[in-house]
Amino acid sequence: MAGLGEFALIRQFFAAAACAAPAPGVVRGIGDDCALLQLPPGEQLAVSTDTQVAGVHFPERHDPFLLAQRVLAAAASDLAAMGAAPLGFTLALTLPAADPVWLEGFARGLDAIARACGLALIGGDTTRGPLNINVTVFGALPAGQALLRSGARPGDLVCIGGPTGEAAAALPLVLGEREAHGAADAQLLAQYWTPQPQLALGQALRGLASAALDVSDGLLADCGHIAEESAVRVVIEAARLPLSAALRAAAGSEALRLALSGGDDYVLAFTVAPHAVTALQVAGLSFHIVGRVEAGGGVRVLDGAGRDITPAAAGYQHFGGGDGQA
Ligand code: ADP
Ligand code: MG
Repeated sequence: MAGLGEFALIRQFFAAAACAAPAPGVVRGIGDDCALLQLPPGEQLAVSTDTQVAGVHFPERHDPFLLAQRVLAAAASDLAAMGAAPLGFTLALTLPAADPVWLEGFARGLDAIARACGLALIGGDTTRGPLNINVTVFGALPAGQALLRSGARPGDLVCIGGPTGEAAAALPLVLGEREAHGAADAQLLAQYWTPQPQLALGQALRGLASAALDVSDGLLADCGHIAEESAVRVVIEAARLPLSAALRAAAGSEALRLALSGGDDYVLAFTVAPHAVTALQVAGLSFHIVGRVEAGGGVRVLDGAGRDITPAAAGYQHFGGGDGQA
């Protein structure tokens, strides 16, 4: 790296960060050729990697403090979706320049979200090039208890861990196409920049949910993965979807479309047998029942009268085939 050297940069902004301090399960963190993780006996390692590219996943003009939170939250959401307890993460940064102001903001944001999620920074890589951020997260869970996409059964209920559509509704604000005004727009922007990975919910779903994933490409597109992997039909009842006041205010008649097909929500979607729903409610978990699983295939959306109102488009795909957001 130009200016600040690569090793000085790593030391100053990452190795010295509070989130890189010694943590349970981390035998060796930043500083050697590999990090070393120790799992308790009988636990499996859950691993997920996520790359975000400037101009594709986030705007070139951004606040690095918020960007760091969004990138790590998106990756941690995959641990939540599996029911894994967070352990640590690596950070592979490709930077156009060693800009101390950007790095300071980014490191601060990373530290905030890492500590909130219980994720220790255990290593990474630092190179020069167009801005590109890769995060790999590691989590632990009892062997055989991961929440897969493949376990949904006809008769199960379909649930989501929170409202969808708000991050998609924030996009015109994020892209500077519209000025933010008031608390509702602030809520949409917070949902876009600082989504809250549902780690506690995911771990509570172990042994109860029949299938789960996190909604990143749009509710319908992601429910399509459960439908396919479980060989079932997922039926969403539009009237049951929680459409927030902020979403309605910003999107008007488009609110339902964004809740179904917008991306970047990072809430969990899961299926659960009706008898197990009670256990989740008793545990005080917050979620919404939005539909049911039937025999068949694909995803259907029904209106209040039971009419099929399934939209044609599914969600975003980087190499074509969708119409959603990056
Ligand atoms: P190597 O050449 O063996 O890949 P590096 O010189 O790239 O090692 O990195 C030195 C140490 O700093 C390693 O432990 C690596 O994991 C860590 N590291 C490099 N970049 C980052 C970063 N952006 N954030 C956190 N740790 C990093
Ligand atoms: Mg290296």
